[in-house]
Amino acid sequence: MTEQTKFSVLCSLFTWTQRTKSSFKKRSKFRKFLDSFCTDRNFFPAIRLILPNLDRERGTYGLKEHVLATCLIDALAISKDSDDAVRLINWRKGGAKTGSNVGNFALVATEVLQRRQGTASGGLTIKELNDLLDQLSSSENRAEKTLVFSTLIQKTNAQEMKWIIMIILKDLKLGFSEKSIFHEFHPDAEDLFNVTCDLKLVCEKLRDRNQRHKRQDIEVGKAVRPQLAKRVANATEAWKKLHGKEVVVECKFDGDRIQIHKNGTEMHYFSRNFLDHSEYAHAMSEIITQNIIVDRCILDGEMLVWDTFLNRFAEFGSNQEIAKAARDGLDGDRQLCYVAFDILYFGDTSVIHQTLKERHEILRKVLRPVKGRLEILIPNDGLNSHRSAGEPRWSFIAHNVDEVERFFKETIENRDEGIVVKDLSSKWEPSDRSGKWLKLKPEYVHPSSDLDVLIIGGYYGSGRHGGEVAQFLVGLAERPSPNTHPKRFVSFCRVGTGLSDDELDALVTKLKPYFRKYEHPKKRPPSFYQVTNHSKERPDVWVDSPEKSVILSITSDIRTIDSEVFAAPYSLRFPRIDRVRYDKPWSECLDLQSFIELVHSSNGT
Ligand code: ATP
Repeated sequence: MTEQTKFSVLCSLFTWTQRTKSSFKKRSKFRKFLDSFCTDRNFFPAIRLILPNLDRERGTYGLKEHVLATCLIDALAISKDSDDAVRLINWRKGGAKTGSNVGNFALVATEVLQRRQGTASGGLTIKELNDLLDQLSSSENRAEKTLVFSTLIQKTNAQEMKWIIMIILKDLKLGFSEKSIFHEFHPDAEDLFNVTCDLKLVCEKLRDRNQRHKRQDIEVGKAVRPQLAKRVANATEAWKKLHGKEVVVECKFDGDRIQIHKNGTEMHYFSRNFLDHSEYAHAMSEIITQNIIVDRCILDGEMLVWDTFLNRFAEFGSNQEIAKAARDGLDGDRQLCYVAFDILYFGDTSVIHQTLKERHEILRKVLRPVKGRLEILIPNDGLNSHRSAGEPRWSFIAHNVDEVERFFKETIENRDEGIVVKDLSSKWEPSDRSGKWLKLKPEYVHPSSDLDVLIIGGYYGSGRHGGEVAQFLVGLAERPSPNTHPKRFVSFCRVGTGLSDDELDALVTKLKPYFRKYEHPKKRPPSFYQVTNHSKERPDVWVDSPEKSVILSITSDIRTIDSEVFAAPYSLRFPRIDRVRYDKPWSECLDLQSFIELVHSSNGT
């Protein structure tokens, strides 16, 4: 009986799977587990714990690492100033005693729990765990959540808690792909999941591995896993990959990928993770009902914010805020705007098997664009039609690689995210990233990266900051040899925003004694700074010794740009100061090599 199986059995499977390299062995062990412990063929209670990121039966927990840390501290009744509490809160950076588990919350938590929990399993069953997780997701405040953690801690040991934390964070790091898990469960499981996004339904419909399931098409009301784009390095590669095909090039909009399912007046707004974003309904449902001339359809597109004052899309990040404002009846310059770039279902049939060109035609017939509210992304239509002469188009049919290249450059200058190049003869396939759609975008830095850089120069401000340094030139260290301090710094970017006036005053006052004017174009900067000859970004003053300078933590909109102006090979597009790190010694400035590794490791897909 699945539900009465002890959770410790599943934990042993997890631990074994994580340690085993062979994917064949992982699969046969998983099969053995299903055959031995799910004899009633009630697979869902176990599978939802194995693939927690695909389970939509339970609401979200609202628990990221930081809140999890505070719940655990309360549930364990440990003092907030204790080493262990600091370790949990600073899991990313390391607390008083830095261990090797830094950066992995579940492992840091296990270290702390091990000192407090016994090693014997508390006998928790799969059913009990699912019930407690249900309770956790429906609890409305931290006190209620803490109570669930207290119960969990009583009924488990530290190893079991580690896996529970990973389930809550929805990432088990098993090294066992979702594809393999689905495949071992049932040969049709992945296909069925892709068109329903319903793990419970998959587990219930496919109880018998030997009975094949007829391929199911998409349905209105059931989220579909989206068609994805494959990354290419440049326009030439994109053009080669789609050689001989008719190709449409589109702007890559930076919003939320949303599938709109319309069934009469019933509307769903499914995100890429197949969550139904009902908060969009208030702002969008009426406009959609009025301007879509068919009763049932599924649109694929991007939800963005349109700025009516600036007459352009706002930068990414304000969708939720604008949705809330619309719900509360607040007016402003910004409104939600849906850009439909595809249609998957129309009337009574799925149209994903038709070509993109045919689907564009259907979209054109079905949807009446409303400027800044509901747009279609079709060559020579919708968004393109109300751009005035001279403004870049949003989509067009490309005839040669130069047109693709030029459009990519235009979108980057326009601060857009990049471009998507699509084969007009292709079908729309759930979860496919095989290259029917190709994306080109500039390099990225991981959004959670703290970039701790050193101030090496300053620029005078204007207006109320006139006559005082108001912006900074920051640098990265040249990686020093082990156990020595960096000797040279490479100019990296110019940053001015992010600090309050008081914070800026305090920082400038501290650095003022070390500012040296850069008086003459031929006068060289201090020898410990490496800069380019580009006059554009020469600071007005240099900090005359790096040891006296201050580290700034900066963030940006995560986009890096190839740098010609600064000495580092990459710079940041819209950097802002997150905090001044008076606490961090100058010598701990991020080094150039680590930054480049960070850029490359963030560019996986
Ligand atoms: P990224 O972080 O680059 O968006 P991703 O993994 O989320 O990557 P990809 O499949 O690589 O998604 O890129 C496609 C995504 O780009 C879509 O999910 C969608 O949100 C977004 N997008 C923006 N404009 C378009 C467009 N014109 N056509 C298709 N997708 C677009």
